Amino acid sequence: MKQEQRPRVRFAPSPTGYLHVGGARSALFNWLFARHYGGQFILRIEDTDRTRYQEDALDDLLSGLRWLGLDWDEGPEAGGPYGPYFQSERTDIYRRYAEQLIAEGHAYKCFCSPDRLAQMRKERQARKEPAGYDRRCRGLTAQQRRDREARGETAVVRFKMPLEGETRFHDQIRGDIVVQNETLDDFVLLKTDRFPTYHLANVVDDHLMAITHVLRADEWLPSVPKHVQLYAAFGWTPPLFAHLPIILDPSGKGKMSKRKKLAGNREAYVHLKDFRAAGYLPEALFNFLALIGWSYDDHTEIITRQQLIDHFDLDQVKPSAAAFSYEKLDWMNGQYIRTMPVDDLAARLLPVLRDAGLSPDMDTLRALVPLIRVRIKRLPDAVDLVDSFFVPEVHPTPHDLVGKKQTVDQTRQLLDLAYQTLASLPTFAETDVETALRAVVTGRQLKPNAFFGPIRVAVTGKKVSPPLFGTIHILGRERVLQRLQAAITLLQE
Ligand code: GLU
Repeated sequence: MKQEQRPRVRFAPSPTGYLHVGGARSALFNWLFARHYGGQFILRIEDTDRTRYQEDALDDLLSGLRWLGLDWDEGPEAGGPYGPYFQSERTDIYRRYAEQLIAEGHAYKCFCSPDRLAQMRKERQARKEPAGYDRRCRGLTAQQRRDREARGETAVVRFKMPLEGETRFHDQIRGDIVVQNETLDDFVLLKTDRFPTYHLANVVDDHLMAITHVLRADEWLPSVPKHVQLYAAFGWTPPLFAHLPIILDPSGKGKMSKRKKLAGNREAYVHLKDFRAAGYLPEALFNFLALIGWSYDDHTEIITRQQLIDHFDLDQVKPSAAAFSYEKLDWMNGQYIRTMPVDDLAARLLPVLRDAGLSPDMDTLRALVPLIRVRIKRLPDAVDLVDSFFVPEVHPTPHDLVGKKQTVDQTRQLLDLAYQTLASLPTFAETDVETALRAVVTGRQLKPNAFFGPIRVAVTGKKVSPPLFGTIHILGRERVLQRLQAAITLLQE
C-alpha cells in the first residue's frame, strides 16, 4: 500500500464478555497497521445484541486497550466525525438502510414464527438439506404482506440472496475465495425487535465510517460472502479484508480455554485482565501478541513497540493458526523485567507488593531490583523474594536453620560467628560483608553453604532469597544482627 493512502481500520467488539486475548491481538494488529501507515484506528462498540450484553464488559475493554497502549483515534470517549460509535445509538440508521433494501427489492419481510422456523429446520435436517431458511416469505405478494402486517404479525427483514452465480472476494491473507450463491442463506437483517443483526450493522458502519481494511479473526470469514452481497446490493465498494489466523491453546489442537489447566496445574489465562492481574508487563504482552501470526523474520523475538510500528504489514501475516505458549510469554516477560530501567521496575513492583500487604519504601525497593530482577518472570514472583525486607521480624524454623549435616549446637556456633564478624565490621558495604564472611569460611575451612545457609535462613526466614551479601547489606547492620540474635536464641531453647 502506498504511503499516501491512509487506512482507516476498526476494532469492533461486542460487549458480551471480558476482552479475550485473541480480541486484544486483533485490536493490536489493527492498531499497528494504522500506526504504520499513519492512518486511523477506530473503536466501535457492537452492542446491538441486548440479550448477551454484559454490564462491566465495556469498562474492561477500554481499560484493557489502554493498558496495552492501544489508543484509538475515534470511538467511545474520543468521539470523532463518524459517530456515534455505539451501534445501539445508531439503530435508526440501520432501519433506514433495511427499508431501502426492501424498497429496492434486495430484502423482504419474513413473518415466519419461531415455531414454524424450528419445524422447518427439523424437516430440512431430516431430508439432509443444508440448514437455512426455506425462503417461504420471499415470494409473498405485496397484498399478502399488507394483510399480514394489518393482522399485526411481527416480521424480520431478510436479505434476498441471489439464487445463482457465485460470490468472489480476495482476502489479503487467505487469497481468493469463491462461494456458490446457492449455499448462501437469506439471512436476517433486522430482527423482530427492530434491532439489526451483526451483518447489517457491521456492513453499514464499515461503509459509513469509511473503513478501508477489515482486519479481524478468521472466525468471521464465513460471513464475508454475505457481506459482499450486501455491499453489492447497496452499490458500495467493500473494504479490503484480512482475516487473522486463530490462536490455539498450547497443544495446538483446540481453542484457548480457561477450563484447560496447563502443565504444573497452572491456570490458563484467556482474558486480558487475567494476564494483567498475573503480573505480565503490557510491553511484554504487546510484543508477544504481535508475534502470534506475524513475524519480522524467522528469529527475532524481542521487538519494541516502535520497531513493530516501523515494520508491521499484512504480507508477513501467516495464514496458519498459531499455538499460544505461556512458557514463551513467561520468558519474554522475564526479558522485559531484566532490561527495563530500575526505577521503572521498582515503580511497577510497588502496587504489587502493596497488594500483597507489604509497605515497601522506594529506596529499599530500588536497591533490591538489581538483586531480584533476574529471578522473576512475573511481577508477583517478587513478593516472596522481598517480603522479608519489609517486615519487622522474620520467623525461621529450627528445621530450616539447621543444615542437613549439622547439629543444633554447630549451627548456633556458626550464627554466633557470623554475628561477631558482622558486628565488628567497620563498614557494611556489600563487598565488605562478602570479604569478611568468606574469610571466615576460609579460615575455619568450612563449606561455604554450611555457613551461608543458616545465615540466609536467619536473616530472611527463608532458604531461598536474593543473593546473600546484597541482602545483608540492604537489610543493614542493625536488623541483620537482631535477626541473627533471634535465631541464636531460638536454637538455645
Ligand atoms: N462484533 C464482532 C465481534 O464481536 C465484530 C467482528 C468484526 O470485526 O467484524 O467480534
